[in-house]
Amino acid sequence: MHQDLEQLKQRISLLEYLQRRNWTARRSGSRQEFVGFCPFHAETRPSFYVNARKNLFYCHGCERGGDLIRFVELSEHLSFRESLAYLKQHMAAAPESELLDKTAAFYQLQLHRYPEAVEYVQQRGVRDPALIEELGVGYARGGNLRRHLVDLGYSLDLLLRTGLINPQGRDAFCRRVIIPCRQQGRAVNLYGRSIGVAFPHRLLPRSKGGLFAWESVGAFSTVILVEGLFDLAVLWQAGFRNTTCAIGTHLTPAQLSQLGDQPGRCIYIAFDQDPNQAGQHASRLLAQRLENAGVNARIVALPPGHDPNSYFMAGATAADFLACLQRAQGL
Ligand SMILES: [Zn+2]
Repeated sequence: MHQDLEQLKQRISLLEYLQRRNWTARRSGSRQEFVGFCPFHAETRPSFYVNARKNLFYCHGCERGGDLIRFVELSEHLSFRESLAYLKQHMAAAPESELLDKTAAFYQLQLHRYPEAVEYVQQRGVRDPALIEELGVGYARGGNLRRHLVDLGYSLDLLLRTGLINPQGRDAFCRRVIIPCRQQGRAVNLYGRSIGVAFPHRLLPRSKGGLFAWESVGAFSTVILVEGLFDLAVLWQAGFRNTTCAIGTHLTPAQLSQLGDQPGRCIYIAFDQDPNQAGQHASRLLAQRLENAGVNARIVALPPGHDPNSYFMAGATAADFLACLQRAQGL
């Protein structure tokens, strides 16, 4: 029973549970504390506090408080034992995105345990520890994800279905650096960059979601669009926080409409300068699609053979890249 309890607490946060029940809250000063109306009594001023880090709640109005199990006991009028069973059932129906969140968190913890992964991230020019943390960069060494997730109570069937685990029972992302694609704070897919000989790019067989970090990037009137997440990482690091990424050169209709969701926005397309012209061709096609949709587009020409990542790796500075933006032309 104790093991059950610990598993449940690891798998579901009190805050998530409350949010799923449509409890609305705002941050209360500190990053970890949230406040909203108390679910247990009527009130005109919010007095129900949740500490997301400690996973505890407390109401200053009715002085009720405790952890997730206590919350279920109170809200559902159940005994401790019944509350556990109730939560287990609730978890069985939890969305797959929660599984992806848990996976991303697990891989993130692994990153610093494997020098080859840290070295790869550094080699790609991403050095700012705060940025690495913010992007949730992780590492799949391979071979230990299945046990971790099964220990948390997820079924092997679900792991296979999401494509996290291959039929041999190993991590599908084996020996890949992982960056989660998030929307409204939840992982909707995982991008894995091979650090070995396997094909470089991998996503789970599900939608890649909207444009990367659109919640923040969408606020800019000038947006830089790149092909890869390592392009995005070096640009964010250099101060170009208005950079987004579609992971590849093909934009879904939903991503395309995101680019045009604010009138007057200008999109700088900074795809790879490929020797076979693939990136340049994709840039022109996309610029045309954007112009047809009434969105201003400019094509950024980097030196031959470069993508934004390799350009910075070759010693370019923020000023050099800015100069490329200034030279960018429309169709
Ligand atoms: Zn209360």
